[in-house]
Amino acid sequence: MTQPDNKPIHRPIPLLDLQAQYDSIATELESAALELMRSGQFIMGDAVAQFESDIAGYLGVEHAIGCASGSDALLLALMALDIGPGDAVITSPFTFFATGGAIARLGATPVFMDIRPADFNLDPAGVRRFLEGSDSRYQALGVRPEQVKAIIPVHLYGQMANMEEFLAISKEFSIPLVEDAAQAIGAKQVFSDGRVVGAGVEGGFGCFSFFPSKNLGAFGDGGLITVRDPELAEKVRVLRLHGSKPKYYHRMVGINSRLDALQAAILGVKLKHLDAWSAARQEKAGVYNRLFTEAGLVSEAPACWIGGCSGDCAWDGQGVVLPYETVALNGGAHIYHQYTIRVKNRDSLAQDLTDAGIGNSVYYPLCLHQQECFSDLGYAGLEELCPHAVCASNQALSLPIYPELSEDDQRRVVETIGKLLA
Ligand SMILES: *Cc1c(COP(=O)(O)O)cnc(C)c1O
Repeated sequence: MTQPDNKPIHRPIPLLDLQAQYDSIATELESAALELMRSGQFIMGDAVAQFESDIAGYLGVEHAIGCASGSDALLLALMALDIGPGDAVITSPFTFFATGGAIARLGATPVFMDIRPADFNLDPAGVRRFLEGSDSRYQALGVRPEQVKAIIPVHLYGQMANMEEFLAISKEFSIPLVEDAAQAIGAKQVFSDGRVVGAGVEGGFGCFSFFPSKNLGAFGDGGLITVRDPELAEKVRVLRLHGSKPKYYHRMVGINSRLDALQAAILGVKLKHLDAWSAARQEKAGVYNRLFTEAGLVSEAPACWIGGCSGDCAWDGQGVVLPYETVALNGGAHIYHQYTIRVKNRDSLAQDLTDAGIGNSVYYPLCLHQQECFSDLGYAGLEELCPHAVCASNQALSLPIYPELSEDDQRRVVETIGKLLA
């Protein structure tokens, strides 16, 4: 097909195609939904219990507790740790708002520390320096290491943060970890002793989201908390029901945050396909890597990643920096919730891609420490604190990725980027 001026008209390539997934398992989904509707049991009940047990088995964790969203999962985990005013919680500034929002909601102080530019995740080395008291820069913000009551590593884009290092820090400083695994269900990491560790399983708490666009997405909101400790598990179970136990008797002030039975039924169907979907995403990522390389579009990682960032990006790469996998594991530990490249002049490339009908998105254009609602934390003017995160927010660009994406479409994405960068 051509337009009058002889330009080919292409079908748009979406960033994510949920319709393709729905079509592939429609019968299974519809019969599970119908069965649930006929059961009349919409709050908690068998469907939720079944899903909680299935997903605990899938993740390899003792307790998996459904809740209303990934945001609530973070909130409930921090509530179970009794975090409140006067406490501080360390996390990444380069994440979805919920990570920082949960901390602030409880009256605690979020402490935003810089990321490792290679994998976009919170840098354990910076966290350790601060906790050891050998980084005085945060004094200007009035936060002391003794105030830190939790650390939230975020597994951004489906690539796990360096959990081996975070677990060592957690043990050494007796500070619990709350993993924000909203984007990383099914991701794994190999530790130096050979152990394979799944996202959201090894820390104190794992927090997952079933927002429709996540790798395991519901037909609405949903979330999950994983925990090994039975007492903390029980506390979360009670907190999600307004702190009520027995019913109508409250020793704690909780919230109303349950996983809908209908969502649990849907998620139970989808869970059976998750590993195949993750493998397909990894395969698509490999195809992108190959196509970008064959097209000669790959730039070396900027030197400032090793030598230190001045805050004023001096990277003069002409191409794209490909996503980085910390540890390869049977073809990939990264489950590619997003396939995110780095480019200079990101905003103009993003606009041009949109104009060409190619879905893309910027996760995230403004770091949390720069958000207006956190201006009273005092980060303004302290650019030296999180330069890599700010740089990532200016250069990161996520491209279409989903299990049903075709190689032809991937080729078109790469060819279009090649033309636009030329
Ligand atoms: C999606 C997401 C959340 C929040 O999940 P919701 O279910 O949308 O509340 C939290 N953290 C990260 C990193 C996310 O991507």
